[in-house]
Amino acid sequence: RSKDDGGGVHHTYVPSLHADAEERRSLEFSLRNAITEGEMSLNFQPVVNAKTEGVVSFEALLRWNSKEHGFVSPTKFIPLAEDTRLIIPIGKWVLHEACRQATRWPEDIKVAVNVSGEQLLEPNFPATIVTALAETGLPAHRLEVEVTESVFLRDGKTAHSTLEEILALGCSVALDDFGTGYSSLGYLRNLRFSTIKVDRSFVQGAVEDSPESLAIIRAVVAMAQSLDMSTTAEGVETAEQADLIRNLGCTKIQGYYFGRPMSATEAHSLVVKRRVAA
Ligand code: C2E
Ligand code: MG
Ligand code: MG
Ligand code: MG
Repeated sequence: RSKDDGGGVHHTYVPSLHADAEERRSLEFSLRNAITEGEMSLNFQPVVNAKTEGVVSFEALLRWNSKEHGFVSPTKFIPLAEDTRLIIPIGKWVLHEACRQATRWPEDIKVAVNVSGEQLLEPNFPATIVTALAETGLPAHRLEVEVTESVFLRDGKTAHSTLEEILALGCSVALDDFGTGYSSLGYLRNLRFSTIKVDRSFVQGAVEDSPESLAIIRAVVAMAQSLDMSTTAEGVETAEQADLIRNLGCTKIQGYYFGRPMSATEAHSLVVKRRVAA
């Protein structure tokens, strides 16, 4: 569709653009009050040891059930929260709530919290972590911060020094969605990540008879091992994928096959049950 379509194109195109902008404004308006309105909650998805299948951690995943808009996916509202900087107060709430829930679990189970570049680059971010840990009583070694490769793009120096501060507190840092971003191996050399999370596109590609996906997972696992980092395969949905991932040597598995993101109450009873059964 170009020039020769004439003005008619504009008439159908402009209103839809306008509607998008309207929707965004309306979402932003609701997002501003989502926490005080009690519309935010956290789900927790188990991450299991690939060999024993025991739960080693939960990843906290934010859920927004808006009175105005219904359930909104994080893939939609997180980017909006980042653009508007609402991610700063929202992220603070997530950290506090995730740490608070984790104090109820057995001591060997960690909690992983996603942190956006906008949050990480805030001057007081390490202090926000210290406060969340102090107020909830969670020991630092039970908190893992998840960042994606994109945090190194905007201000790599600040991102790096902030992550060093977080490591110095005793927390661990995981590299999320590995392989989907603007991968540069430089930061793997410079920062002690505890875990590399292999993006689910590789995991799901691997069984669809994609030798490329397999080769990439194998290479990431080998690299992680020699760097003394562990690997988590994301998005494992079937027994077949779980077997394959185990055979490739990934340390940990996360995905619908071992558990969907669940409420704090469900997560709590899952680990308590496991404990009794063991
Ligand atoms: P992520 O950190 O990579 O989280 C994993 C996503 O994969 C989650 O989507 C999870 O529900 C989904 N997932 C897990 N297992 C499977 C599986 O077996 N199959 C499939 N198809 N999907 C699976 P979710 O909850 O929609 O979150 C999407 C993204 O939103 C997250 O990706 C993360 O980047 C962001 N996000 C979520 N919560 C927060 C938060 O509290 N703060 C920030 N900054 N970002 C968040
Ligand atoms: Mg994550
Ligand atoms: Mg991920
Ligand atoms: Mg992601």
